[in-house]
Amino acid sequence: MDSPLSFWQRFSKAILSEAAFEDMKKSSDSWKVQCPNCKYERSVWEMGGIRWKAAGNPKMLRGCPNCNQQGWHLIYQKPI
Ligand SMILES: [Zn+2]
Repeated sequence: MDSPLSFWQRFSKAILSEAAFEDMKKSSDSWKVQCPNCKYERSVWEMGGIRWKAAGNPKMLRGCPNCNQQGWHLIYQKPI
């Protein structure tokens, strides 16, 4: 979990209190992005993204690092 922070993650860290940042990080990490082809999963946070106080299960057109296919990845929240 020590991957470098993305621009938006660093930006959030700069403007949020430490507690709020930790909360956001935990929340973003509970949101998983799943490949429709091989079911490979990673968290929104690992991808350098932020998802906080959000709901719904949107889809995102992404390339998968596991099978290298483009597809509509499902985004869903795993209970923390
Ligand atoms: Zn895949």
